[in-house]
Amino acid sequence: MPKIASYDDVKANRLVRELPVGKGWRTNFLTYPEGTNLAEEPMGFLVEGNHERVIRPHYHENDQFQVVVSGGGVLGKHKLSIHAVHFSRAYTPYGPINFGADGLGFLTLRARKDPGAQYISDAREKLVAVADRKPWQITEAPDFTRSGDVSLRPFTQIKDERGLAAFSLSMAPNAAVTLPDPSQTGGQHIIVTKGSLSYQDREYKGLAVAFVKTHEGAWQITAGSEGLEAIVLNYPRREAPAAANDAVAAKSPQHRVWQCMLCAFTYDEAKGMPDEGVAAGTRWEDVPETWTCPDCSASKSDFQMAVVG
Ligand code: FE
Repeated sequence: MPKIASYDDVKANRLVRELPVGKGWRTNFLTYPEGTNLAEEPMGFLVEGNHERVIRPHYHENDQFQVVVSGGGVLGKHKLSIHAVHFSRAYTPYGPINFGADGLGFLTLRARKDPGAQYISDAREKLVAVADRKPWQITEAPDFTRSGDVSLRPFTQIKDERGLAAFSLSMAPNAAVTLPDPSQTGGQHIIVTKGSLSYQDREYKGLAVAFVKTHEGAWQITAGSEGLEAIVLNYPRREAPAAANDAVAAKSPQHRVWQCMLCAFTYDEAKGMPDEGVAAGTRWEDVPETWTCPDCSASKSDFQMAVVG
């Protein structure tokens, strides 16, 4: 049976974090009775911090979604805005996460228990020694535009060959829908961001977090009296990927592509990074030594040549 909780159900769990800089809180949404074997249970918790908080670059041993639910900030060099979804594959470093002027709140979501953040400052050697990792991360915003009573729009970039997918769900008051079948995935989180989800004679108001396990089948849900906006997140299955789906494409002969050894971000000399003041056509040796990986903040020396066209 799917598991679901609203913020009202769990706000008593809000814990103050002891941090070297800034203020921070953590609130567990999916909680379990004493004695539950947590190894294969999903995780869902709200991370909050004020403008001073920074989370250093790190990775996890499990696939992970993060969904921004308040304020804003910057992850690596990527802007985090409300409801943005960040997916990071297991063993993909990302960060730092700099909390914005109004603070930042995001949900951290995983299909199974994770031992916690492995900071690059301490665990770099351990990371590069992991065999067959396929580091990859992506950030994409939902689109809650609705036509008719129900719209279920797939994200265009959050997908892979192991069942990874995300959907923006928008429903009129009291409308019903059958969610995508999670049977070919590693499980499914549903994040209610607005309105409410009606389930077993209760209305779960946003912010609410639900999880449907792989074998539980497609969940039929009904929107509450004010309608519903939600983000549906399908985890990849856990077997190893068949092949890198993010392989660097062939490039023109005169330009090289350099790849971050930690997170697999690529720098293409042909394209440069105009957003960061590096013009198209800039050779790697001419990229400033102070430049860092936009996704995981690794330095230039952590890059290797990936393709010579
Ligand atoms: Fe990187």
